[in-house]
Amino acid sequence: MNAPATSPSVKGWCPGAHRPMLSGDGLVVRVRPFRAELSADQARGLCDLAERFGNGTLDLTSRANLQIRGVAEADHPALLAELEALGLIDQDPAVEGHRNILLDPNWATGDLTDRLYDALLSALPSLPDMPEKMGFALDTCRGGYLRDGSADFRFEISDDGGLILRADGCDAGRPVTEAAAIDALKDMAEWFVSTGGRDAGRMARHLKTVSLPAEWQTTPPRSAATDVSPGAAPNGTVLGAAFGKIDTTALRDLLNDTGAEQMRLMLGRMFWLRGGRAPAPSQHFVFEGGDPILKAHACPGAPFCPQATVETRSLATWLAAQTDHVLHVSGCSKGCALPRACAVTLVGRDGAFDLVKNGAPWDIPSQTGLAPDTISLKDL
Ligand code: SF4
Repeated sequence: MNAPATSPSVKGWCPGAHRPMLSGDGLVVRVRPFRAELSADQARGLCDLAERFGNGTLDLTSRANLQIRGVAEADHPALLAELEALGLIDQDPAVEGHRNILLDPNWATGDLTDRLYDALLSALPSLPDMPEKMGFALDTCRGGYLRDGSADFRFEISDDGGLILRADGCDAGRPVTEAAAIDALKDMAEWFVSTGGRDAGRMARHLKTVSLPAEWQTTPPRSAATDVSPGAAPNGTVLGAAFGKIDTTALRDLLNDTGAEQMRLMLGRMFWLRGGRAPAPSQHFVFEGGDPILKAHACPGAPFCPQATVETRSLATWLAAQTDHVLHVSGCSKGCALPRACAVTLVGRDGAFDLVKNGAPWDIPSQTGLAPDTISLKDL
């Protein structure tokens, strides 16, 4: 018999630095580094803070941010002051809450992506009030790099190399010049709000019931770029973090041993160490592009999140080696680790798992009540 997964308490916002979320092990404080880049000193400082105020790990999120977990409520003000001293947060909580900006990690100082980032940062306070989960993508280097990233307003490159603004959920976008880009974004944001988009919460969901103006959907984006995977990269090395979990001691050692100058955060729970020497292999990071663990997604699960009744990551690690498919083991139907459909999703409910094939964690499962120690992909 099919049964829907337990309804999670879904929040309409993402945890941020100023407005953290309470989890089973304390506050989750999310840090959104500017331009998704940390200097080596900022990264080392963040490691220190995760050890002093959190549980000694950093979580690299699906939107290429970093989280400190396990923070006591009483320590939150002191942690905020330290993050501000490191130059990692906005002073204005309202701006911080809306600063969900993905950008192609290939950006260079002064290029189109860099300039658009500055323009967008300046414009954020003047955009209409939208749900804090909504975000922006600056996929404007070679194009097609951020296609799988969660964003509602997408600046992209068309086949002829022009700049377009595309609403997420729509196949094509609106050609814009760089000078007119932010005004076009404001127009689209105002359209979203005035047509009732706040009730839908996200652009793609809103477009299921309301049509965009025809002139905003004329030009498709360039097709997706080749996948990036761990290994040697220009001016450095791309590394992966299984489930996004980064041990702070291991990261500090990595920075010190390589002499890396910066760390750019990437989609796919990867980061790009830039400058310095090539790192020596270590069990703490993923060095090979074919490692199946990078196709597995799992939230912290029990006992770290109060919504979870199951452990997630040990099962995901075991199952990842058995499949070439994308796999998601979710502590509940909220699906924090991968909030979209994939080939195999196991959703925790009342101490067991429900199976969703080719669907999202909140979809109707094809099997229910699977005991964790009996699950094998041979049976799926
Ligand atoms: S998906 Fe995982 S982390 Fe998110 S609320 Fe559910 S159990 Fe918690």
